Amino acid sequence: MRDLPDQTSVQKFVYDFTEGNKDLKDLLGGKGANLAEMTNLGLPVPPGFTITTEACQVYLDSGDEPAALRSEVSAHLEALEQRMGKKLGEPADPLLVSVRSGAKFSMPGMMDTVLNIGLSDASVTGLAQQAGDERFAWDSYRRLIQMFGRTVLGVDGELFEEALEEAKETKGVTVDTDLGAADLKQLVKRFKKIVKAEAGRDFPQDPREQMDLAIKAVFASWNGDRARLYRRQERIPNDLGTAVNVCSMVFGNLGPDSGTGVAFTRDPASGQQGVYGDYLQNAQGEDVVAGIRNTVPLAELEKIDKASYDLLMRIMETLENHYLDLCDIEFTIERGKLWMLQTRVGKRTAGAAFRIATQLVDQGLINEAEALMRVNGAQLAQLMFPRFDEDAPVELLGRGIAASPGAAVGKAVFDSYTAVKWSRSGEKVILIRRETNPDDLDGMIAAEGILTSRGGKTSHAAVVARGMGKTCVCGAEELEVDTKRRRMTVGGTVVEEGDLVSIDGSTGKVYLGEVPVVPSPVVEYFEGRMHAGADDADELVAAVHRIMAYADRVRRLRVRANADNAEDALRARRFGAQGIGLCRTEHMFLGERREMVERLILADHDEERAEALEKLLPLQKKDFIELLEAMDGLPVTVRLLDPPLHEFLPDITELSVRVALAEARKDHNENDLRLLQAVHRLHEQNPMLGLRGVRLGLVIPGLFAMQVRAIAEAAAARKDAKGDPRAEIMIPLVGTVQELEIVRDEAEAVIAEVEAATGTSLKLALGTMIELPRAALTAAQIAEAAEFFSFGTNDLTQTVWGFSRDDVEASFFTAYLEKGIFGVSPFETIDQDGVGSLVRSAVAAGRATRPGLKLGVCGEHGGDPESVHFFHEVGLDYVSCSPFRIPVARLEAGRAAIESRGSDSR
Ligand code: ADP
Ligand code: MG
Ligand code: MG
Repeated sequence: MRDLPDQTSVQKFVYDFTEGNKDLKDLLGGKGANLAEMTNLGLPVPPGFTITTEACQVYLDSGDEPAALRSEVSAHLEALEQRMGKKLGEPADPLLVSVRSGAKFSMPGMMDTVLNIGLSDASVTGLAQQAGDERFAWDSYRRLIQMFGRTVLGVDGELFEEALEEAKETKGVTVDTDLGAADLKQLVKRFKKIVKAEAGRDFPQDPREQMDLAIKAVFASWNGDRARLYRRQERIPNDLGTAVNVCSMVFGNLGPDSGTGVAFTRDPASGQQGVYGDYLQNAQGEDVVAGIRNTVPLAELEKIDKASYDLLMRIMETLENHYLDLCDIEFTIERGKLWMLQTRVGKRTAGAAFRIATQLVDQGLINEAEALMRVNGAQLAQLMFPRFDEDAPVELLGRGIAASPGAAVGKAVFDSYTAVKWSRSGEKVILIRRETNPDDLDGMIAAEGILTSRGGKTSHAAVVARGMGKTCVCGAEELEVDTKRRRMTVGGTVVEEGDLVSIDGSTGKVYLGEVPVVPSPVVEYFEGRMHAGADDADELVAAVHRIMAYADRVRRLRVRANADNAEDALRARRFGAQGIGLCRTEHMFLGERREMVERLILADHDEERAEALEKLLPLQKKDFIELLEAMDGLPVTVRLLDPPLHEFLPDITELSVRVALAEARKDHNENDLRLLQAVHRLHEQNPMLGLRGVRLGLVIPGLFAMQVRAIAEAAAARKDAKGDPRAEIMIPLVGTVQELEIVRDEAEAVIAEVEAATGTSLKLALGTMIELPRAALTAAQIAEAAEFFSFGTNDLTQTVWGFSRDDVEASFFTAYLEKGIFGVSPFETIDQDGVGSLVRSAVAAGRATRPGLKLGVCGEHGGDPESVHFFHEVGLDYVSCSPFRIPVARLEAGRAAIESRGSDSR
């Protein structure tokens, strides 16, 4: 729970723009903090004040504004009135203000801004006289009633739009600027009637009442449905509240020498410096983005109003040099005078983030450490997905939420059954559903990508797709999905089952037809097929190269790969892996070797078993030789066999059918019968918690010894070949030190035998996984028998939570995420409080027993940005992850190192 603001001491709820600064975003919201910053920089900001988020928090907690708020607002309003030389809504010469919401994070679904507050039947004529422009005054008034009606009184905005359209039709004109004063006066009458009819009250004529109602409406909008949904999806806490900005009005709708615009200090797509933005003459507020008339590119402002243009360019430079980053800006020109209405550090694409960071270093604005902090692993991951060729002609169907990245192309299918059927016959399919549920799981697995028309980032489709690493776009609301008729419609286009569609999980875009895919230049670079130093190297690759090099220089955590074969190992090495943290040996027992494993399992007596193991030994040895060669000079951690044995046996139903059919034909297959018996014997209710890991090594004589021998002989062979093998042997699923001791003694004996036979000293490290709560809790004892620990955070998460991952992700994680039980799946980002605290204590206990204990992690969390920071902080030596995530882990390990240096030394 957030601490309640202390209401006994005198609390300040309102800050003038001159009192705040950019670091007060928690208190003043992003917009308010930056308005204050610009004011203090001496930039032309219309005067005003900000009501704090704390005032909003009181409102949210108690249902009422804090008692002191009204008088504080009055005091600030009076000061504003004095400064401006006019009073709010005064008939002869009214001061007008805007009431603008502004939370710490910009948030769709919050109340829109209301402009022109203070206008009334009385003051509209005063405004007309003061401005010498009757049309302008009535235009401003109709805008106020429209915005106020919609956002404060909750009137359907369409009604106003329709009335405006009608007015234009009656007059026979197409744009709003062609309506004259008389037309707008009529429109105001219409609008007031709409308000009365819909809201059941008159449009308030008292200017202060207008302002107070608008402020309250901003507070209340914090808890609007859309705002709540957005916060849940983006994991923004519910108790932050929003600030409210009251800002004196400036007018862009005072004729052709006025206007309003938006601008960026650099291109948010490429990072290039230049003139980026749009301008609209004779317009107010959001007209420029609302598309009511055609805007002109910002560069044209130079011709329209050179003085304002030049000033704007200077201000943009000031802002960049001050914020040391790309800024976006809202401005208005009132009769040739430029006003700044908003700025913030602007959003940018992943590619632009890397380019801008290095550009700013080159300009001497930031140092390399700061540049590293300007990018993140999620952005790097985005740059590594294959992408749709941007130059190809495309037909955009719609856009949804970018739920799980990637570029997927396939035939549209509208049910799981068809998805599975078609994919079995070799078709690529995109599964399209309104929403998915656990019944769709098979189809999701079969599909290249998943597209839904409903649901957000925590919907079933999104959660499961991310868990599977599968491309997903969800909540594409323009798409009408009709699963019964197996088609979807978008506008006039109908997409039938079997039509090709392409979905981009990084942008949320949905295309008709097959969009060609191009490999990511960043992956080409990591693969060594593109060189950052080459003359034609693209700027992005050069930027990634520089930032990666810096991250590598500063990081403490080493990064290893989870790889089972030489091919993966070599790729991992190219991607910067400093060893293998997890080689899963079970993958070496599949394919044609399965039969030997079957024989091993079916063996009735030691001889038969020894024979089977004998056959497996040379194959294993060969695998290890290849792996050790690929990773020559770097550590390779080999995990002994881990999965339950039934995974190597045929499927129980298939086998039963085979046996039954054979019996019917009276041909009796002894082997199948024995297999079936074995399958029954080995069947477990909870295989995850059954006979697996070290338990296998303890009950199947000779199994682990064979694996250890293969590793030792492979290492000896590599030494013989003048290589530098650094194999480490890792025992899985240990729960108690006794298990480890038995296996270790056996392994040491085997290693000694190989050493004696080959005449080489092998120095193979023996360690264990820590993946059961009991192992973590008894880490001090276990460290006596282990030279290293590798935290298996996948199993540890399963066993600490009592979750079976494959079951829970598909069945109830969506509900858990929606209820806010956790903000992200604990299989995606490590649960620091639970699983993480076991890791933390096991690290301390292990090191206390054995100071030189080497510590790593090999669960999938090893490649997750947030988790990498945690592993850095608890003091692990390395993280290990799949080859493709290695660059992300390297980058985040660098960021973690900078972060823990603290902000002062940056
Ligand atoms: P948003 O967060 O949606 O951008 P803003 O509060 O920035 O909302 O306001 C919406 C529009 O109204 C913007 O174009 C802004 O520049 C304009 N605007 C806000 N306050 C004023 C003002 N005091 N004078 C003129 N235009 C304003
Ligand atoms: Mg808006
Ligand atoms: Mg704005």
